[in-house]
Amino acid sequence: MKNAVLVDACKFEIQEMPKVELVPETLLLKVKYTSICGSDIHIWQWGPEPKSDKAKATFDSWSKVYFGFPPTAILGHQMSGEVAETGPGVELYKPGDRVTIRGAGGYADYAVAMGLGGHPLSSVVYPLPEEVSYQEASLVEPLSVAVDAVRRSLLNLGDVAVVVGAGTIGLFVMQCAKAAGAKRVIVTEVSDVRIEKAKELGADEVVNPRTENVVERINELTGGFGPDVIYDCAGNPDATRSVIEMAPVGRGKAIIVSTYENAFEIDLNMVMMKNLDMVGFLSGLPGSYPPQNDPFDIAIELIRSGRVKVEPLVSSVMPLEKIDEAFNKLARAEEMMILIEP
Ligand SMILES: [Zn+2]
Repeated sequence: MKNAVLVDACKFEIQEMPKVELVPETLLLKVKYTSICGSDIHIWQWGPEPKSDKAKATFDSWSKVYFGFPPTAILGHQMSGEVAETGPGVELYKPGDRVTIRGAGGYADYAVAMGLGGHPLSSVVYPLPEEVSYQEASLVEPLSVAVDAVRRSLLNLGDVAVVVGAGTIGLFVMQCAKAAGAKRVIVTEVSDVRIEKAKELGADEVVNPRTENVVERINELTGGFGPDVIYDCAGNPDATRSVIEMAPVGRGKAIIVSTYENAFEIDLNMVMMKNLDMVGFLSGLPGSYPPQNDPFDIAIELIRSGRVKVEPLVSSVMPLEKIDEAFNKLARAEEMMILIEP
């Protein structure tokens, strides 16, 4: 079994691992594709032991968010594959089943799925319908984050939404907001590649904060009333400050769906004076949803039915051996999304 192990800042090493012995409530997945998350790129840049004080502080604060696990433990958490082997007593799945899983370790040819925190294996393994390809399925996890964010925002039929940042999560949130009944979705983005993708996938307006005053422009586009819901998917301090500024007084909702490289200052007086509902958001834990509301299942159904398009985001597919090159390209925002095929 081969595994890309982060050995230094910006450096994976492909290592041979011994075959794992499966225990009850686990299965072995033959990984087909793993998509690369923005948080993985931050972790890759820091390395397993960050050198600068700033990176070390962020690394430690992320460990707290991840229940004490180091951030490296979440590398490769967006994958699809085929069941290769099942642990003792597992009857729900059999070798050959096409699935996506909640878990990590997807930068490898095999990954282990296990029920977390006492939840059964079925809370982390999701069978794929025939119409959903393995490539699409490797984007179910990030889509589930967007699904969950839009559900949590309580977006109403006919709302005007703003999506700040058109990376993978932003483009998924934009499509989910439309699927949920938003009348208009305005996207703000600075990168040309992403602006084009946002237009292609149905953004009603795209505002570029590099060339326009984003707060004034949003105000203009909403007839002075401001957006009903704002999703912050940029992970950038200036973008978040603009979110607070563009929110209307008295009825604004801002959902933070991004990770930031460092802590920063915001003006909470403005949040208070605007009666702004500002909600932080990571994504739900396995087993925390009744099956009919599980965002993974909803994401799979949105892809199957064609209401959300994930495949146009994939700009290339690269083998595990070229993982550093793939991360480099994404870190420089040269491509939209690269899938690793181990
Ligand atoms: Zn992620």
